[in-house]
Amino acid sequence: MKLTVDLSALHRAVAPLGKVVTHFNISSRSTELESIGSHLTKGLILGKDIQLDQIDGSDGILNYDGHQVMLYIPDQGNNIQNVLSNGKEKWAKRVHVAECKTIIGMREKGRFNDRYDVINRIDGFFPVFGIESHSKQEINGEAELAVCQNCLTLINHNNFPLLSWGDKTVFIQNFLYSKFFESYSSYFKALPKSTAGFQSAGYTSDWPSISSKIRLELDYTCEQCGVNLINESKLLHVHHINGNKANNNRDNLRGLCADCHKKQPHHGHLYVSNEDILKINRLRREQHKFDVFDYNNLREYADTALDGLLQKCESMRLPGAELGVVINDKNNMIAIDLCWPRRKVAVLINMSNAKALRVHGWNVLTVFEALNNFDLFQAQVR
Ligand SMILES: [Zn+2]
Ligand SMILES: [Zn+2]
Ligand SMILES: [Zn+2]
Repeated sequence: MKLTVDLSALHRAVAPLGKVVTHFNISSRSTELESIGSHLTKGLILGKDIQLDQIDGSDGILNYDGHQVMLYIPDQGNNIQNVLSNGKEKWAKRVHVAECKTIIGMREKGRFNDRYDVINRIDGFFPVFGIESHSKQEINGEAELAVCQNCLTLINHNNFPLLSWGDKTVFIQNFLYSKFFESYSSYFKALPKSTAGFQSAGYTSDWPSISSKIRLELDYTCEQCGVNLINESKLLHVHHINGNKANNNRDNLRGLCADCHKKQPHHGHLYVSNEDILKINRLRREQHKFDVFDYNNLREYADTALDGLLQKCESMRLPGAELGVVINDKNNMIAIDLCWPRRKVAVLINMSNAKALRVHGWNVLTVFEALNNFDLFQAQVR
């Protein structure tokens, strides 16, 4: 059965968000971006250093020129002492990571009453200030601020809206900005500086030869998912199981594709581009590595940026989606992150191929569009 669905209402609904930053073309501006990146770890003032319309929320997660950013109010008023001792207390200001109703409200009104800072520091500490009520002295410091719950709800992060009140509190207490950023790294051109590449040290001098020997022995096949990467050999890594890079015994080493490697414990900081994940899933599919597409498999093999949507689909019992589907558009192969082929519904992380897919009769949505117009979306998929 072919189902024709009118998506225009959906597109109208998301249109006001705009797509300020589209896709990254950074070659000529790399130095400039480098310096913007380092400023972002200290914080820039919204409306002064950065304008709100330069921050793109159309993928859900806030994006400034390819960088993941957060928005928060540094001025904690006369509550400053409490916030410094416990940044997650009731009256402390929250940190926005996504296009929640606070941000949408600021965009609609075209103004905001408080000073907001834009930052991409990911250690969980944020510069704050305020006036101490007795001495009337200005106090500056760094506080461990909590993430905004509306933001997590909006992107269905870890099925947050379905948690009980108590579990939500625990989740917020244990929330790590670094891990959050790692899950959505496919929307960005890199991970924030402080996590990217911090594991590069510790290899022995003979590591290059040990690693290439193992990769050759394995014929470039991932020991976890079984994908063969002989034609994409850079995507087969060798992983140290116990984390000790000086221990190069064969039983401590495992040949893993970049995707399986990134998903090992404590490896979220390993940056794997969306393009490479698409490549790996295409090969897994061509090589029949997917037996079935149940939600366990989907969540294991999909880009982690899709996880919120997949959890929502699973809890709403939507029919299973597929990974690794590629469409031939005049010999240009278009890889789809997640799709329901019988319904011709495709979810893309990078929307640059959306137009071409629509010409082929596909309904194409971003993860954020699917989540925020879920009723319309599920009507298309069922
Ligand atoms: Zn928020
Ligand atoms: Zn693998
Ligand atoms: Zn590893």
